Amino acid sequence: MDCLFCKIACGEIPANIIYRDDLIVVFDDINPQAPHHKVIIPQKHIATLNEVHDEDSDLIGHMALSGAMLAKQLNIANEGYRLVLNCNPGAGQSVFHIHFHLLGGRRMNWPPG
Ligand code: AMP
Ligand code: ZN
Repeated sequence: MDCLFCKIACGEIPANIIYRDDLIVVFDDINPQAPHHKVIIPQKHIATLNEVHDEDSDLIGHMALSGAMLAKQLNIANEGYRLVLNCNPGAGQSVFHIHFHLLGGRRMNWPPG
């Protein structure tokens, strides 16, 4: 599969992986938008949130809970952090393998751009 994040998950393309388990891989974003910017991906290839089905609900829950766990480990849980999932180009998705961005370490504005 010609997918950047599948290649990172299997080790074909290097990344600074900070967490991995049977379901997900988490690594540093190559172009960080905050002092802490991690990318949380499932090992399973799913192109966009529109292709997520009922059988993936545990996986999506695990991705979100892992974001919260990592925020605690990174010491940004209390000050606040953001978990972002962009769906399709109109929302800023550029890699078509679903991922949460975990952003923290600076003040976040609302609404997002
Ligand atoms: P999105 O625009 O929501 O699809 O997010 C894709 C993210 O992947 C962006 O924040 C990119 O900076 C990041 N990214 C792209 N290529 C790499 C890479 N080789 N290693 C780590 N992060 C990457
Ligand atoms: Zn993929």
